[in-house]
Amino acid sequence: MSTNRATIRDLRRRNRSTLLRRLFFSGPLGRQDLARLTGLSSATVTNVMAALIAEGVVVEAGVEESDGGRPRVLLRVNGNHRLVAGVDVGETRVRVELFDLAMRKRAGSEIAIHPAHHEPGVIVEAIAKGLGRAMSDCSAEADSILGIGVGVPGVVESFGEQVVHAPGFGWSHVPLGGMIGSATGLPVLVDNGAKTMGQAEMWFGAGRGVRHAAIVLLGTGVGAAIFTDGAIYRGATSSAGELGHTSVVVGGRHCRCGANGCLEAYVGAGAILERWAQMSGQPRRPDEDEEATLKALLTGADGDGPASKLLDETALYIGVGIANLVNLFNPERIVIGGWVGLLLGPALLPRIRDAAAAQALNYPFGRVSIELGRLGSDAVALGAATLVAEQFLTHGDAAVRRRESQPAAVGGPVSNSPTLETAATRLT
Ligand SMILES: [Zn+2]
Repeated sequence: MSTNRATIRDLRRRNRSTLLRRLFFSGPLGRQDLARLTGLSSATVTNVMAALIAEGVVVEAGVEESDGGRPRVLLRVNGNHRLVAGVDVGETRVRVELFDLAMRKRAGSEIAIHPAHHEPGVIVEAIAKGLGRAMSDCSAEADSILGIGVGVPGVVESFGEQVVHAPGFGWSHVPLGGMIGSATGLPVLVDNGAKTMGQAEMWFGAGRGVRHAAIVLLGTGVGAAIFTDGAIYRGATSSAGELGHTSVVVGGRHCRCGANGCLEAYVGAGAILERWAQMSGQPRRPDEDEEATLKALLTGADGDGPASKLLDETALYIGVGIANLVNLFNPERIVIGGWVGLLLGPALLPRIRDAAAAQALNYPFGRVSIELGRLGSDAVALGAATLVAEQFLTHGDAAVRRRESQPAAVGGPVSNSPTLETAATRLT
């Protein structure tokens, strides 16, 4: 008997999740459409929708005339039902954004952090402060927030306490999820920033409609999120995708991970500027604005000057890294994002493609498109918020709250169906 009850409960939960996901990605839809698209019976659709409407999760979204029949009532996920928070932890700032359940941005705030002070307590305090400001900007109460998704540089053990290993921050075994949970009182899901950016691009950006993709983050650090058959590839301990620490030059430049010749030691923001300092003979200033210097390099790069040479070499290294992804994973699409990727990409993309073409195997290279990210610099925070949205769509809000101290099933199979247009167009 208990097994039967458990089976029925599981079935109900699965039906609810199937219907809610379909409405989230493809709504508004009528009940008949939902039955047709999911293969569930009309009675099941009616029952589940009645429960979701009673809970305030789903609302009516007008009527649609149908040929010869009665007008159909359209349904959609109630964007106002709850909020989800997304956090992007960077080298010089922590960005906190609040989205509604239609993934519309409601508020955002940025807290500057000193690049030499990445102690866990400093980061947690910045997140709590940023969250407080964002909540106050849109008059949100803590009760209205389902949870906080956090994208961090480094490896995240996506189970238990969500422990982070981030050599760039000097972190080893930092129980970040628990620390943020204690500071904010909210459920927390932590993942690597390249992976959260990857999920955002797959749901709403340049990765929509493909099932095999690599989303590359070029910023201060370099990483990637690998999607195979629509699901993120994590590896044995969640560190898969550390593209920045794959070797491009044997015995090459020293990397902050301790090894030599890593891709990040050539194309991370600091690495590009160090190479420029060596080429130009002008030492870097301690208070240097990296973004402003990179912009100036782009502007000054014409003809055969040293800035052009530096950017040519940078495109070559990025192209080699991309060729390695093509040869290893055979993706349909490679998306380049991150603030350095988006800043240099428009000028360097043709050279990056040429370098990748020269290095990759012809057959897989002929079947991959290389594009720039479409979600701008907000993609890490948006993707972090989708971790919470994903939990809500799969398990419901009560389950998100229960999961506070439980394993975080982050980054599960991504519903990257070709029917994402509606949710994507809601993004502002
Ligand atoms: Zn390295």
